[in-house]
Amino acid sequence: MTSVKACVGFIGLGKMGRPMALNLARGGMRVKAHDLNLEALSGLESEGIQVMNHARAAVEGVDFVVSMLPDSAQVEALYLGEEGLLEEIDPQSIVVDCSTIAPKTTRLLAARAAQRNIRILDAPVSGGTAAAADGTLTFIVGGSEQVLNACRPLLKRMGSNILHAGEAGAGQTAKICNNMLLAVLMAGSAEVLQLGVANGLDPVRLTEIIRVSSGNNWALNLYNPYPGVMKDRPASKGYEGGFMVNHMTKDLRLAMDLAEASNCMTPMGESAQNLYSELKQTNEDYSHKDFSIIQYLYSPELISSS
Ligand code: NAD
Repeated sequence: MTSVKACVGFIGLGKMGRPMALNLARGGMRVKAHDLNLEALSGLESEGIQVMNHARAAVEGVDFVVSMLPDSAQVEALYLGEEGLLEEIDPQSIVVDCSTIAPKTTRLLAARAAQRNIRILDAPVSGGTAAAADGTLTFIVGGSEQVLNACRPLLKRMGSNILHAGEAGAGQTAKICNNMLLAVLMAGSAEVLQLGVANGLDPVRLTEIIRVSSGNNWALNLYNPYPGVMKDRPASKGYEGGFMVNHMTKDLRLAMDLAEASNCMTPMGESAQNLYSELKQTNEDYSHKDFSIIQYLYSPELISSS
């Protein structure tokens, strides 16, 4: 299938979808793109991507359909609801939904796809916009191994790690677990950085000490939330770019829903969710900033100096 020139219908060309689609086009695939927001489609034609004004046109006759949408409601509306795209997709095509959504929505979609003999994967990603641009995303995949193998040439053009989590919905579950832990680690890192600073420590020195000690973690070591500690990270650039607070609060909601449905206690996740809600209440503009801005909740003096 991929030996000729594979064709991809790409739906959702936002912050993540756009660089992913560009990597497919640059990697030699034919790409037909659709987004409800016309601005998201601007400039794509000069990159060899065909812009389509309807999702139906974008998926016609393609080998793969890739979607990268905000949340469960948009995925459900696109495939099963008003737009009913699943009815339009040829069973020859494989659907790969890369959005981070509720596992139960993914399983519903997979069940409906199976009724039409359409192969489908959930393949949410880890890594932000920079990894999407560099083609170094991690795909966390749910669905059959055989279908995943048929999609490897597609996924390899957008990412460097492709990990099979299990059956339909398992990719979403693993992604949600990861992001809940990330929120806990980010809040915990911001908390200790402020504790150190308030007690006379330099945040750069404290980071150097913890990163080679037992408290080391990804948020502190590679995505430090304290301004000035890592000059290339959002914390040192007014918390612009990166992974939005709104996406993190959505992922924490998905984690809490999952915990409730499976009777799991998640007090750490709940705390992180409360902290991010409190952050948004202090200033609604923070919703669109990088999630490391949780540092402001602990260190309000940084707001006036920023
Ligand atoms: P985004 O809001 O920038 O992009 C989503 C795009 O989908 C928008 O352009 C929107 O117009 C379009 N859209 C919505 N409904 C549509 C429909 N029915 N048909 C066509 N287009 C539609 O979001 P994003 O940052 O690209 O994130 C997408 C997904 O990836 C989310 O689930 C997010 O949680 C996940 N994610 C994001 C990041 C990140 O750093 N931004 C990292 C990992 C995972």
